[in-house]
Amino acid sequence: MAAFFHKLRQGLARTKSQVFDRLSQIIATRTRIDDELLEEIEEILITGDVGFDTTLTLLERVQQRVRKERCEDPRQLLRLLKAEIVRFFPPMKVWEEQLPEKPFVILVVGVNGTGKTTSIAKLTYRYQQRGKKVLLGAADTFRAAAIEQLGVWAERLGADVIKHHSGSDPGAVAYDTVQAAVARGMDVAILDTAGRLHTKVNLMEELKKIKRVIQKVLPQAPHEVLLVLDGTVGQNALNQARNFVEAVGVTGIVLTKLDGTAKGGSVIGIAHQLGIPIKYVGLGEQMEDLEVFHPQTFVEGLFEDQTVSENR
Ligand code: GDP
Repeated sequence: MAAFFHKLRQGLARTKSQVFDRLSQIIATRTRIDDELLEEIEEILITGDVGFDTTLTLLERVQQRVRKERCEDPRQLLRLLKAEIVRFFPPMKVWEEQLPEKPFVILVVGVNGTGKTTSIAKLTYRYQQRGKKVLLGAADTFRAAAIEQLGVWAERLGADVIKHHSGSDPGAVAYDTVQAAVARGMDVAILDTAGRLHTKVNLMEELKKIKRVIQKVLPQAPHEVLLVLDGTVGQNALNQARNFVEAVGVTGIVLTKLDGTAKGGSVIGIAHQLGIPIKYVGLGEQMEDLEVFHPQTFVEGLFEDQTVSENR
């Protein structure tokens, strides 16, 4: 938790200084809660990539509480904003120490370039750190480079990878991977998938097929379908996400590249709009740079060291 907070604080420094510190500063200069103040807050959140609909919902909820709790001091707005932002994040569980089934099968989906392969390597590292044996499956057979890249990470991590030649059937790779995971007594099997095919329809059909094939070996699998989204594209990540959510029933989101972006506010809109938990965040390019997401810590980090506090 402390590591998450430290890395997150560094990674989100730009989001904090460009968006959330401005909120705190504006609130500090006001003596009463009025429409003008609320509109300014609204504008900062929208330009800060929180998203239009999410910002409106947030301010509606905050206003309701202002009325109900008869708040007059603008400094109380910070508490309400934080509490209502945290409520946007669906409850979630991350399976790491205790796995519900062996092998625990994770299907990783997402558009190319979002950080899918890197996130798979980071996940593998997290499991290995917890003493779990991980088998990887290179089911993105569309790109030879993807198979190669996964192989390079696997070697570095000392993990085995099941791969066929490029252009082969991804379903067959998925099948072989899960079957090998069962046969070899692996704790976790993580499957990489294509992020681009000739058409979007093809891609979604293929992902559905991979899921069906996995279920022939293990009816409860995949136990987790992680969608990797690029945190630097802000609200655009939402459009990408919807197709995957419809096709394969995403159970959690890995939001990458949150280090160094000013678009960290998009985390809030993504969680709210998709209603799917953000389980992990990517905070760098190394295998150690993946952390479990904690909404409360995230929100506290964004508003930390604010220029104004209710206790002052
Ligand atoms: P894929 O095509 O989705 O498999 O994407 P890759 O895993 O190859 O990642 C694309 C690029 O993003 C690479 O240069 C990665 O090093 C970089 N990357 C991935 N995750 C992160 C992250 O959390 N932070 C940063 N800064 N870069 C990342």
